[in-house]
Amino acid sequence: MPHHSAPSEDWKPPSARALRAANDLLITRYGERVPHAREPLDGLILIILSQATSDVNCDRAFTSLKNAFPTWEQVLEATDEAVADSIRSGGLANQKAARIRRLLSEIHQETGALDLSWMHQSSVEECEAYLQKFHGVGPKTIACVLMFFLLKPAFAVDTHVLRVTKRLGWLRPKASAEEAHRVFKSLVPDECKLNLHVNLIAHGRAICRAQGNGGPKCGACLLRSRCAYGKNIKGEALGGSQVLEERVHGTDFFVTVQPGIQKPLDEVEAVSEVVND
Ligand code: SF4
Repeated sequence: MPHHSAPSEDWKPPSARALRAANDLLITRYGERVPHAREPLDGLILIILSQATSDVNCDRAFTSLKNAFPTWEQVLEATDEAVADSIRSGGLANQKAARIRRLLSEIHQETGALDLSWMHQSSVEECEAYLQKFHGVGPKTIACVLMFFLLKPAFAVDTHVLRVTKRLGWLRPKASAEEAHRVFKSLVPDECKLNLHVNLIAHGRAICRAQGNGGPKCGACLLRSRCAYGKNIKGEALGGSQVLEERVHGTDFFVTVQPGIQKPLDEVEAVSEVVND
């Protein structure tokens, strides 16, 4: 059985130029994100609601929650059961309601208010230092709030990003998610962070799939010529051309998507050769 990460002795950090080129290629396939600033507290709640459900169901649950409880103070004063009833459409309602109310309670205790709009004027470091005080708010959630709601440079690492970037050779094979957050915070150019995060997830779902979900389809991958794993494999290990349908919706990941210009793979490979480091 092939193993699907770059050999450790080959590892060296990717250059900013290589990361920019990969970002450009992924945009041609999956599109470009157009974020709009929103309230960071809404973002924290949306991120809790997005756990283990689709973007559509997450939005539906958020709208239903706001209809039932127009202010966050009202959510705090309600019971877990009443909040859970208002978010049933998003799944895991009891668990999410308890998490939401606990987070609101902690924020209220910390500041005496339920308003994080001051973060729009604060630095990345100030926002990170504040958010990491709260139970259940880790580096991924913090980076998502910064990227999607505050429009600040941050790079979130989820299971897809971790898997794909290890195969690409951008991380040590044994790197943890915490290490990946630290490494990519400084390595990924700020202007690439949002699109690269979202498009690596799209790529991980459609083509560079987990072993338990069919494995990587390197033969259909526009990053193969620059991938530590993919450029050395041949024949059947390329994984054929069967790919999952890519997720390119009008809105996704809390932001608007401008679809990419889909190009034939041989044309993309030609561009890839030119821009490869
Ligand atoms: S070539 Fe593409 S699909 Fe294959 S391991 Fe690399 S990034 Fe994943």
